[in-house]
Amino acid sequence: MINPVNQFVKFSYDISKGSMATRYEKTKNVTDKVYDGLLDKIQDGKIRIKDIEAVTADALPEKKYIKIVRLKNSDEYEGGCDYIEKRGDYIGQEIDIATNGKTIKAEALPTYMHELTHAVDTLYNPKYTAKTKEMERKNLYDRKFDRCYDNSLYAEEKYKTESEKTELINKRKKEIKQWLAGRTADEKITSIQLAKAMLESEVKAYHSEAMYAKKMQEKGFKLPEDQYVDGEKAFLFKEKIQLLNDIGKDIIRRERCKHAKALAAKQA
Ligand SMILES: [Zn+2]
Repeated sequence: MINPVNQFVKFSYDISKGSMATRYEKTKNVTDKVYDGLLDKIQDGKIRIKDIEAVTADALPEKKYIKIVRLKNSDEYEGGCDYIEKRGDYIGQEIDIATNGKTIKAEALPTYMHELTHAVDTLYNPKYTAKTKEMERKNLYDRKFDRCYDNSLYAEEKYKTESEKTELINKRKKEIKQWLAGRTADEKITSIQLAKAMLESEVKAYHSEAMYAKKMQEKGFKLPEDQYVDGEKAFLFKEKIQLLNDIGKDIIRRERCKHAKALAAKQA
């Protein structure tokens, strides 16, 4: 089998089966449980890492390994979520967050919820992990990918008018095409699917972060402004997902046309 995704980074089929919407509902149920559990654990404005790991493990429908790790480049990022790798295979996931090793600040809870949403979303959607492995196998994680992902796909967008927005989207389209230039159709499709999956996960994670931030605010917590960011609006994720869809369809159409022509030439 190509791209086997092992049981450490996915839920059993019985748990994850259902439509995309069902799986998203299930993801939300887990994050809701974690949020409620952690709200009770806040003491002197802090939450213990021990409690975060225990509450999270308790909320998962099946035993999985999610480890909290101290965020290294905290001046650049607020949090991160990644696979834990051992001998070339994934054995779990880590959530990187600003911590002194023992506790996180209560204000960082929405950031944790953002990263946890990625982690749980991944467990419910093994195809994300399958795509990641496919990208690795085909050596598609290169500097061109990083540049396009960081500077175009995951770039915060500033525009005032609709025409400025259209202009911006066209610019991003060009940049995506530059990223894919020189690759085979198969490599392009893999790259597009992975980028799409990453943006889809960001939509959910930003939604989750803003929702829990709002809940905390209603309870009287003072939080940094950027935790209420409407991700879709700030990064134009939906528009970029649509862009990737269109570019992907175009590539497939052109490939079909090529095959049809080759076939016709053979038969002539
Ligand atoms: Zn994220």
